[in-house]
Amino acid sequence: MTASLIDGIAIAAKVRSEVAVGVGKLLKDSGITPGLATVLVGDNVASQTYVRAKQKACAEVGIESYGHVLSSDSTQNEIVSLVRDLNADHSVHGILVQLPLPDGINEEEVLSSISIEKDVDGFHPINIGKLGMKGRDPLFVPCTPDGCMRLLQESGAEFSGANAVVLGRSNIVGLPAAMLLLKRNATLTVCHSRTRNVAEVCRQADILIAAVGRPEMVKADWVKPGAFVIDVGINNKWISHTDDREFRCASSGDLFTAHHQDLSEKGGRKRMGYLDESSGDVYSRDHLPNGIEVEGLVKLFRKNKLVGDVDFDEVKEVAGHITPVPGGVGPMTIAQLLSNTLRSAQALS
Ligand code: NDP
Repeated sequence: MTASLIDGIAIAAKVRSEVAVGVGKLLKDSGITPGLATVLVGDNVASQTYVRAKQKACAEVGIESYGHVLSSDSTQNEIVSLVRDLNADHSVHGILVQLPLPDGINEEEVLSSISIEKDVDGFHPINIGKLGMKGRDPLFVPCTPDGCMRLLQESGAEFSGANAVVLGRSNIVGLPAAMLLLKRNATLTVCHSRTRNVAEVCRQADILIAAVGRPEMVKADWVKPGAFVIDVGINNKWISHTDDREFRCASSGDLFTAHHQDLSEKGGRKRMGYLDESSGDVYSRDHLPNGIEVEGLVKLFRKNKLVGDVDFDEVKEVAGHITPVPGGVGPMTIAQLLSNTLRSAQALS
């Protein structure tokens, strides 16, 4: 490996301990405990997990969290009305509405109803607008892209005049990351699904931020030697337990191939097969003959691995600095949320 690893866990721990010190000082000096209100609408399991993780992180640094859960059939008015109550609540310094909201709810209207002074997620249109304007500073910046900038800064990246490429232009990551780089005087290119010659464009980058949601899309020959590579992607990759091999199914007689490949792409079939190592026979999941027990057989597929948008194993040999997945950008998102909540409490106190 030639690249230095950008350790998101260590840098996030540093941010969290800075926040913990700031929270202690605020309480001592002004008797104020920062408060974060979370608004969760519906029963999306991933959203519940994210909100729980944020509440736990708050508790660890001394921030009070106030959890509000609304049912999935809540109306637009009910959600906005809750946000307005939280805007007026002096114990709440930050308001986080967990996205996505259920179908039929106007996300823009809900985010716009958050007071910009409490918009610790940084998605209020005024904060986003100021992020894009020269000479204006938003009160808060979205946590994931802000975390990317902190990782770059901590690992010694020079922004001014650098060629920066952001892969992806989503409202929550790509676009604000691009605007942050521009604010730091980088020369910016944003790539998206219609960009031609993406690899060639990426190869010009001194700083490359990948936020596309495509497993291991960025390859070694997309990367300029010595570049800073930040991988925002979090993707599941399903791989086989074997090398590419063709088998004849012992029970059905069908030929089938076990590919050592990514099976997570849309339409990819996560076929499950079993290998009897003693006989070399292979059974497809759907044709297990009578008397053959799954126990004792080796699964051919379904090894689940978390990967980023960057092919880490290849790119680490070319880049100068690189974030791993997991352990890179992920831990920074919550750390920046805590930092924003503390800043909000300091400003509102
Ligand atoms: P979105 O799906 O909202 O956006 C993806 C972007 O990538 C779009 O702008 C899209 O272009 C572009 N894109 C898609 N395919 C290609 C392609 N083949 N070539 C070039 N551009 C392409 O994703 P998010 O921004 O929400 O998330 C991106 C990744 O980051 C995901 O893996 C997600 O899980 C992860 N993530 C991680 C977080 C963390 O805390 N670490 C937080 C948030 C997200 P177009 O606009 O033209 O459609």
